[in-house]
Amino acid sequence: MTKVVLITGASRGIGRATARLAAALGWSVGINYSNNEAAARETAALVESAGGRAHLLPGNVAEEAAVIAMFDECLRVFGRLDGFVNNAGIVAPGMPLADMDAARMKRIFDTNVYGAYLCAREAIRRMAKDRGGQGGAIVNLSSAAARLGAPNEYVDYAGSKAAIDTMTIGLSKEVGPHGVRVNAVRPGLIDTEIHASGGRPDRAAVLGAQTPLGRAGSAEEVAETIVWLLSDASSYVTGAVIDVTGGR
Ligand code: NDP
Repeated sequence: MTKVVLITGASRGIGRATARLAAALGWSVGINYSNNEAAARETAALVESAGGRAHLLPGNVAEEAAVIAMFDECLRVFGRLDGFVNNAGIVAPGMPLADMDAARMKRIFDTNVYGAYLCAREAIRRMAKDRGGQGGAIVNLSSAAARLGAPNEYVDYAGSKAAIDTMTIGLSKEVGPHGVRVNAVRPGLIDTEIHASGGRPDRAAVLGAQTPLGRAGSAEEVAETIVWLLSDASSYVTGAVIDVTGGR
């Protein structure tokens, strides 16, 4: 029996690295993305060359109909769902809260909070044993920003990730009795394209040098923790929020 994981935002960065590692460990992978189909196809090729089955699942996580369709399609193609990685997330250019416009804050909360909660709901509806599922594991992507606050950069993003920590705790208690474990990973400064989208492509390298381990982390290093939390190797871990921050 091949296990199936659906990963949001798997076209690039941490989501892609997680897809590739999960495939190497024998999982089939549903690859969600929002815009970048070419990058999603590259992820699919990496999954397949690692020995896994891949299926592209385009859709904006902040749109309820798209989220439901994405989960339905994943079940239709693979026939089961064992893991879900709530990874899609965005930042915006750094600035103090006083300078942020409402549209920017709404975009951050729509994607990072509303989208993540909708996706978690749909995963539970398909995995929880009291709803006809077979149990499974959810891994949510939080951020070290949730405890650092990201002053003068993006306190909106930091708050959106704090909501992920809280959802992880509450949801783990709701669905533990129904065979679903829910955990979160809090990356620190990881070398991906997200920093360029916040206007500072060198952010991870520059700030990473100031961490106790003296460097930025890689997407692959975060994927190792995510895939461990998906796997039976972490079978007694739920409601945990694990820092992967080089000590930051
Ligand atoms: P990237 O910017 O490299 O990749 C983001 C991914 O999310 C892409 O696949 C993108 O798709 C997808 N995406 C963005 N918006 C949506 C949406 N509305 N619906 C569906 N997919 C969407 O990000 P990272 O890999 O760096 O980050 C992954 C997660 O880790 C995020 O939640 C982030 O907040 C978190 N994180 C990252 C840190 C870092 O330093 N990199 C630090 C702490 C947390 P497309 O390619 O189509 O645009």
